[in-house]
Amino acid sequence: MPPPAENGHELSSAPPISPFLERIGAGVSTWDKDLRLVAWNRAFRDLLVLPDIVLKVGASLAEIVDGGAPGFGDRPDGQQIESLGRKRLAADRRFTFDRRFADGRCVSLTFAPFAPDGWIVVCHAVTRGEIEENQNELQRQNARLDAALDSMPGGFSIWDDDLRLVLFNSRYAEIYGMPRDQLRVGMSLLDICELTVAVGNHPGVMPDELFRRYRDRLRQNMDPAITRRYEKAIRRRTIRSSYTRDPRLGWVVTHEDITDDIRRIEELGAREAALAQQNMRLDAAVNNISQGLCMFDADRRLVICNRNYATLYGLPAELVRPGTHLADILKHRIANGVPPLGDKQAYLQRRLDVVAAGKPEIDTVELRDGRVISIRHLPTADGGWVATHEDVTEQHGDELRIRHLARHDPLTDLPNRLVFRESMTAAEDGIADGRTFAVLAIDLDRFKSVNDTLGHAVGDAVLKMVADRLKAAVRDSDVAARLGGDEFAILSSALAHPEDAAVLAERIVRQIGEPFVYDGHNIEIGASIGIAVAPGDGRNADTLLKNADLALYRAKTEGRGAYHFFEQDMDAALQRRRVLETGLRQAIARNELRLVFQPVFNLADNRVSGLEALVRWYHPERGTISPAEFIPIAERSGLIIPIGEWVLRQACAAAASWPDDITVSVNLSAVQFRSRGLLQHVRSALQDSGLRPQRLELEVTESLLLAEVEFTLPTLHQLRGLGVRVSMDDFGTGYSSLSYLRSFPFDKVKIDQSFVRDLASGEGGRAIVSAVIGLGRSLGMSTTAEGVETEDQLDLVRDQGCTEVQGFLLSPPLPASAVDKLFAKATGTHEWTRTLARRSGATRRLPN
Ligand code: C2E
Ligand code: MG
Ligand code: MG
Repeated sequence: MPPPAENGHELSSAPPISPFLERIGAGVSTWDKDLRLVAWNRAFRDLLVLPDIVLKVGASLAEIVDGGAPGFGDRPDGQQIESLGRKRLAADRRFTFDRRFADGRCVSLTFAPFAPDGWIVVCHAVTRGEIEENQNELQRQNARLDAALDSMPGGFSIWDDDLRLVLFNSRYAEIYGMPRDQLRVGMSLLDICELTVAVGNHPGVMPDELFRRYRDRLRQNMDPAITRRYEKAIRRRTIRSSYTRDPRLGWVVTHEDITDDIRRIEELGAREAALAQQNMRLDAAVNNISQGLCMFDADRRLVICNRNYATLYGLPAELVRPGTHLADILKHRIANGVPPLGDKQAYLQRRLDVVAAGKPEIDTVELRDGRVISIRHLPTADGGWVATHEDVTEQHGDELRIRHLARHDPLTDLPNRLVFRESMTAAEDGIADGRTFAVLAIDLDRFKSVNDTLGHAVGDAVLKMVADRLKAAVRDSDVAARLGGDEFAILSSALAHPEDAAVLAERIVRQIGEPFVYDGHNIEIGASIGIAVAPGDGRNADTLLKNADLALYRAKTEGRGAYHFFEQDMDAALQRRRVLETGLRQAIARNELRLVFQPVFNLADNRVSGLEALVRWYHPERGTISPAEFIPIAERSGLIIPIGEWVLRQACAAAASWPDDITVSVNLSAVQFRSRGLLQHVRSALQDSGLRPQRLELEVTESLLLAEVEFTLPTLHQLRGLGVRVSMDDFGTGYSSLSYLRSFPFDKVKIDQSFVRDLASGEGGRAIVSAVIGLGRSLGMSTTAEGVETEDQLDLVRDQGCTEVQGFLLSPPLPASAVDKLFAKATGTHEWTRTLARRSGATRRLPN
């Protein structure tokens, strides 16, 4: 501020030029709160070219402005500047404005608050370069603003309080189809309404009506956003306009052409509706097909599935959602009680393999609960697949039953031979890994007689019960099968020791030996078992089964109700038996069988009372084969029936030519008793030969009376009824129970040669023989001592009271031709006549 001395201003009540302000390089003045001048410096006065007369403490801003140098162009008067200043100070507290002078100078003035209630004004000259720079900057800013406005996708306009256009962009004109060059800043809203009506945007609407509508909308602050469809307009557009009121700018209005968006939305809507309908139809179709249906994408994620699919596998809601991974569904299928039979891992792998293969496949899977599911897998072009899952339990029921029947014995439901062999083949694979297993061949003892005496229904029931006991006796890993008839087999795998097989066999023998109670019958049968252990006794099914059979054969011949392990020499014996059996089948036809007859002598009169027919087999290569060797083979193979019948016929025919008081004895096998034809065979042999039944004597052994009494006794009575005689042969072997003698009124009991041999050796043998003879006598039976080879034996049996003797001492078995001669010769010429006479002290004549 200039010092008073210098400006000489009397009015100044305070030093007008403040020394403090003078030190500031810029022009400075201070003002009170009413914008009245307080102090100034010289620079302030000079920059603004203010005459000292104007610069008075307490002068108003308006007075100062008006008293200063004339400004440039349309310079506002002091009053205007003051009111502007007041406004700006009230609002912004700090502002800058430039004051340009007519001579081109420009001064920038900055107003700022100044303690405590006043203002400070700082001013400095702006150079020409600065001005230009400022102008350029302004132009650049405007260009940037224009570019920014025009780059806006929407239309943009600003209206001041008088509803005049302040600012707009090209898009604004474009949207409404108004020519750009007809729009100017400062146009009134009414002008714009006239323009827009003129270009055809509002057919049938007057511009002033439109103007009122817009004006009211803005002034009354209604509908800040509005969407209008210019349906009937030349340009069919849909435009949304929104406005906001900015206190400094006025109304800022944006205009958006949303025609394309609307169309897109509408199209989308239509498409969605169509899709929804299609989905509904698809849903209905998918849910109404009887199969379970599912569709997966290439990532193995569920796209869609129907209700049946969920129901079929009991899938919870969260697993049938689109996007669920196949693995999760499979996991659920397996974990929740519906895994297929067999290996779960195998099932999982199979499903994954099918998916990976990407080929159409059809699988039939049996679930644990018995349902059978047919899965049809069909890959889709996008790398996913569609699969149908159908419950085909019903359809497959028959097929399954048939398949089951093909693999199981229908009576006992045990696996059959086929399954057994398959299991054995599977077990063979374990041999390489050092595993061992046993094959048990089981044959029931006395089962045939159950069938024959109690009927097949009872026989079947017994077989079922046997099957149940076998199932109970074996472990889960073992296979118990019925191979046919009364033949069973067990495959016992993973044995720790071969002895384990013996433990199992023993258990089975014991359990099958327990009586079976059925329909009021107490049925006692037994089991014989042969055991072959792999790999020692064979490495394949055929060998093992054959060897187990050999062992079984041994078990049977060594007394039933036993088990036997296979031994290597059994094989050779079997080979021999096989050869014999084959030869035996042709023996009758080839006329290789012959009968020989061994005389039996009556000790009362020392003469031949009868002859025992004994069969011989004259084998072309091996010579004479003893019946002791081939009869058991014939019994096992069933050949004993035709052979027995042949023997009966031959014996009766031969005896028919003998003297009428000579009997013929024929040995019968127990097996012949089991065949129903025996009675008929005997009857026809008698008829055809014309032999009196009383001259035929049938020899049976004790074993016949062991278990099959129910059946054999009636047959014996029927035979007796024919008039034939029945004798008990080989008494004393095996069982030697005197009670057998009471069970049937035998005509004769033949004491076995082993007893006769023992007679000489001690008192014990003699006591037994005398007991038998005594019992026989009391029961009205005659007794024959077999196998008498020495005179001592002859004497002893005679002393004991035996009725008849038979043995090499007196005569070996003779061929038929020799028998005829026997009767033709005079009695005295026979060696045996002399022997008997010498020993009995009496000589009798043989009848002719
Ligand atoms: P078996 O019925 O006890 O017959 C007597 C056996 O003793 C005969 O043996 C006979 O040759 C033999 N023998 C007779 N006297 C003596 C003797 O003093 N010492 C010795 N050591 N043996 C003597 P074979 O002919 O070898 O017959 C053996 C068995 O074969 C018979 O024993 C019989 O059980 C059976 N057999 C023979 N032929 C037939 C037949 O046609 N049918 C049936 N089912 N079995 C038969
Ligand atoms: Mg005999
Ligand atoms: Mg005998």
